[in-house]
Amino acid sequence: MGKVLVLNASYEPLNITSWRRAVVLLIKGKAEQVEHNGKYVYSGFPLPTVIRLRHYVRVPYKEIPLTRKNLLHRDSHSCQYCGYSGDDLTLDHVIPRSRGGGDSWENIVTACVRCNVKKGSRTPKEANMPLQYQPRKPYSSLYFEVTKHVKNGVNQEWRKYVIGI
Ligand SMILES: [Zn+2]
Repeated sequence: MGKVLVLNASYEPLNITSWRRAVVLLIKGKAEQVEHNGKYVYSGFPLPTVIRLRHYVRVPYKEIPLTRKNLLHRDSHSCQYCGYSGDDLTLDHVIPRSRGGGDSWENIVTACVRCNVKKGSRTPKEANMPLQYQPRKPYSSLYFEVTKHVKNGVNQEWRKYVIGI
């Protein structure tokens, strides 16, 4: 029956849960329905796809490991200089390591081999190769989960609750 996106009282995505758990939260009055997909659990009770908690829940930030896989996902498996998307993608230090650039979400982007070689040990400005997006740290590990769902073509109605998809 599908997964349900749970929003905090502030409308920020909080987690992904099963439709059963979501229905329990709705019945108990702990959450309100925000979106449904037109199907019904039973007459008069639409199956939720997005719910929102009535009370704000504080969540600690969970670090997302800076890995090749996660960087590729953040950059939608496409070169951040020319937009190429394919198999032979590399990671590029925006400010080259030789120039003091570090390993961080803000300084590593996905690049195709061609752009990586062309840019060499220059900054994007020096190489006249502007980045398509300013690289940044993902908001949360939930953000990663949600973007995967949306990119796989399911739960399109989640899109408007997550910034930057
Ligand atoms: Zn490229």
